[in-house]
Amino acid sequence: MTWLITGGAGYIGAHVVELAKSSGRNLVVLDDLSSGISSRLRNDIELVETTLLDSASVNRVFDEHKISGVLHLAAKKRVGESVERPDYYWQENVGGIQNLLSAMKTHGVKNFVYSSSAAVYGQPDVLFGALITEETPCAPINPYGATKLEGEVLSRAMAESGGIKVAALRYFNVAGAGRAELGDQYIFNLVPIVFDALERGEQPIVFGNDYSTSDGSCIRDYVHVQDLADAHIAAMEFVEKSDPGFTAINIGTGQGASVFEVLAMIQDVTGISIDPIIGERRKGDPAALVADVRLSKELLGWQSSRDLRAIVTSAWDAWKLGHK
Ligand code: UDP
Repeated sequence: MTWLITGGAGYIGAHVVELAKSSGRNLVVLDDLSSGISSRLRNDIELVETTLLDSASVNRVFDEHKISGVLHLAAKKRVGESVERPDYYWQENVGGIQNLLSAMKTHGVKNFVYSSSAAVYGQPDVLFGALITEETPCAPINPYGATKLEGEVLSRAMAESGGIKVAALRYFNVAGAGRAELGDQYIFNLVPIVFDALERGEQPIVFGNDYSTSDGSCIRDYVHVQDLADAHIAAMEFVEKSDPGFTAINIGTGQGASVFEVLAMIQDVTGISIDPIIGERRKGDPAALVADVRLSKELLGWQSSRDLRAIVTSAWDAWKLGHK
């Protein structure tokens, strides 16, 4: 009984691998190391270095291990890049999951946990202040979100035709670190962008302060990566016990934080004073995106336990370690 974890050397993947291993699971990691880092994995974790686009190599992993389930995290995830290179995103993200699901079918593997994203909702047409439920219509507004939704569409169809059991986890804004060595190495999201600006002696930019929110800045649902790892373990157990079918589940905290609130927390944690620059709105940014988390509680028995302070403190510890 071995679980295959694709993208296990990535920022989120490495947290999931570490937790799954310590909860006694047999694992094999598949990663092309394009953004993953092999040193994130302990020595006792087997790593197969290959791209999902190489279906012969993917099938070989299934031939050589008794795979009972797949946690699929490997994907390209830069929204801006996806706008520039949609064909590449389709090839990597849609082609990748297609090969993986085909290999699962060939080998009779039924359990599938898929890293989806709140990006599948796009700019949801919900009343101001309303939470996003899994029933909120999916209408991605960029190729990244569209490829994540394609993965859901295909895995849902395979659940209907081939009897697989799918949990698609729609992550909201993931940040923080379980331990400093596992921190996010990239500077693509608000928290690392602000750290980077502060380190260079610059002030962060707030993308718009004229939204109809309490302080005018955008509200997001920031979830600690270690809570997210817990959710994956719960999702593995959920699909193992499930009947065939497809279930999309929001993974967030149910609590929103505005950009100004995140900046205030960063100031508090780092001790660096912040006087942000107010910039233009960023194209495609919805005013507020906060998860309704009732389904994750009901089906997975999971809910987040770490707050914004824990997220920022752990991210800052990881940042300091990586930028000594
Ligand atoms: N944001 C900002 N300044 C930045 C980067 C991000 O004000 O330099 C805002 C962005 O408009 C959004 C929130 O921070 O409201 C989170 O952005 P991020 O890119 O981290 O994630 P997204 O919600 O877009 O997936």
